[in-house]
Amino acid sequence: MTPLDAFPPTREAALARIAAVRPADYARSRNAIEGAVTHLSPYITHGLVNLPEVLAGVSARHLLDVQHKFVFELGWREYFRHVWRHCGVGILASLHQGLLPDDDYGAGLPLDIRQARTGVPAIDVAVRTLYDSGTLHNHARMWLASYLVHLRKVHWRVGADWLYGHLLDGDLASNHLSWQWVAGTGSRKPYLFNADNVARFAPAAWHSPDSVIDTSYEALDRIARQPVRAGPAESVMPTGYPVQVEPPLLTDPSPELAVTVPDAVAVAGRNVWLVHPWNLGELPQTLPADTLVIGVFVADFHQAWPWNERRWHFVASRMAELAAQCWYADAAAIGAALKGARQVRSIDEPHLQPWLASLAACMPAPTLFPSVEQRCDSFSQWWTRALRGLHSTAELLERQQAPGWWTKETVKDQPRTAGFQNNGGAGGI
Ligand SMILES: Cc1cc2nc3c(=O)[nH]c(=O)nc-3n(C[C@H](O)[C@H](O)[C@H](O)COP(=O)(O)OP(=O)(O)OC[C@H]3O[C@@H](n4cnc5c(N)ncnc54)[C@H](O)[C@@H]3O)c2cc1C
Repeated sequence: MTPLDAFPPTREAALARIAAVRPADYARSRNAIEGAVTHLSPYITHGLVNLPEVLAGVSARHLLDVQHKFVFELGWREYFRHVWRHCGVGILASLHQGLLPDDDYGAGLPLDIRQARTGVPAIDVAVRTLYDSGTLHNHARMWLASYLVHLRKVHWRVGADWLYGHLLDGDLASNHLSWQWVAGTGSRKPYLFNADNVARFAPAAWHSPDSVIDTSYEALDRIARQPVRAGPAESVMPTGYPVQVEPPLLTDPSPELAVTVPDAVAVAGRNVWLVHPWNLGELPQTLPADTLVIGVFVADFHQAWPWNERRWHFVASRMAELAAQCWYADAAAIGAALKGARQVRSIDEPHLQPWLASLAACMPAPTLFPSVEQRCDSFSQWWTRALRGLHSTAELLERQQAPGWWTKETVKDQPRTAGFQNNGGAGGI
């Protein structure tokens, strides 16, 4: 199986997954490892489809109450973005103290976890699944995070950075804030789990009887509150226990991906639409016909947040389908090359802050839920505010602008962002 077989990097594949969503089965089985989840997250993360498109596609086929479990889970993604908007890079540090001070947790990821040889099947199978597929069921992510933080006393940020790098859907808001939710630094109480919970929701290979997690919630709570880990620093497994090799994380694309350095000549005097790794959906229908589409990988981001090879392939393949050229360079070099362009536009993306605003005039990305201005410290608070006055998914879909949100009017009315670059007033809007 090639790396992209399970997740072809195409709109068609994303739309087929939307068509296959079975909301009733989803609601019933979402917590089970083999439950009817959608596997849409790599497509949503990279903008091949957006949440309004997902909900519109599902509700066109199924009657969906606005309080349905599926809509609720889409809400979690936007809630985490709401927190990101309010806290900025603050989401990368503990939002408040958890069970123990930050310093009581280790700054390194133990090798037995990296190599999937902890001897706790639920953890070892999860790590192997992650490395093999670039994805992991939500419940397994919670188990992995809880085990690392509360039993092994690894700081949540260490685990979050590591998991982010190996996921095809790695998203700084959903990932890092979920880790904080599990750790108890972004929620009121920590998330704990035991072997009975694994046995209830996972197939036999994950079951972990007689392991460190085979205990009561009271005992787990006591362990979580102690500043010392349960057991030795690293598990020593018998000879013959499988050792998993951790896939390398890469800061730049491999040569066969046809990503080049910026080409100032190609864009000189042109209207440019920038495609980046988080807006890989359909191009806006109202782009002027002579627009040149350029894909950009901003190296400043990728140096800090490397990806696995599978993700580079996924993103670069789709980007190549949309763009005449795909560039990889730091923001300064991309900006210098775009200086001669007539106008440069794109869609906003917090992963590319602060660089994108200096490269292009950006439209906001489409959202499903109404924006909640006041910061909400809990999902339920946000959910209540976001849905105030909305009684159906139809109303939810009506109020937002996508698809077709990019109209001639919004293009015309859009103010330039502070750092908008053009060729000294020769064009622009
Ligand atoms: C420790 C941890 C780390 C996580 N890291 C990420 C991450 O980097 N990127 C990411 O997209 N999700 C992350 N999640 C949330 C969730 O696990 C994934 O969105 C989900 O497993 C993706 O599979 P799916 O598309 O089949 O989800 P489904 O259950 O089918 O849900 C459909 C869509 O709703 C959204 N969604 C569902 N549940 C959540 C949730 N709890 N939080 C946020 N969005 C949700 C996703 O966009 C998902 O694709 C993390 C959760 C945990 C506990």
